[in-house]
Amino acid sequence: MYRLRVSSHFDAAHKLVGYEGKCSRLHGHTWRVEVFVIGEKLNEIGFLIDYKVIKEKLNEIIEKLDHSFLNDFREIGNPTCENVARYIFERLKDLLDVKLEKVRVWESSESYAEYFEG
Ligand SMILES: [Zn+2]
Repeated sequence: MYRLRVSSHFDAAHKLVGYEGKCSRLHGHTWRVEVFVIGEKLNEIGFLIDYKVIKEKLNEIIEKLDHSFLNDFREIGNPTCENVARYIFERLKDLLDVKLEKVRVWESSESYAEYFEG
């Protein structure tokens, strides 16, 4: 099997609903996003998929989130790191010709959440 990883990032604000603590107040993060795809067959030049294609599709999705207020996106729900990862996964998986293994979203340099389908 082969696994590729592509990363990108966006800046966005959020506030957590139903949470008692500082994160219930409006604040922002630079959200770093990592995308992992897997597969076992390479094409004729030895690619699983072109990194550029993954990056383009990922950027189509996160472009909409960049410099936004994540609470405005109903499909995300409460904009926790977990829900942001699921939101990106669900949109990205149908845009790629390879299997999307997981999406990892970092909301700080120390904390990330991953979404994948079991
Ligand atoms: Zn936060």
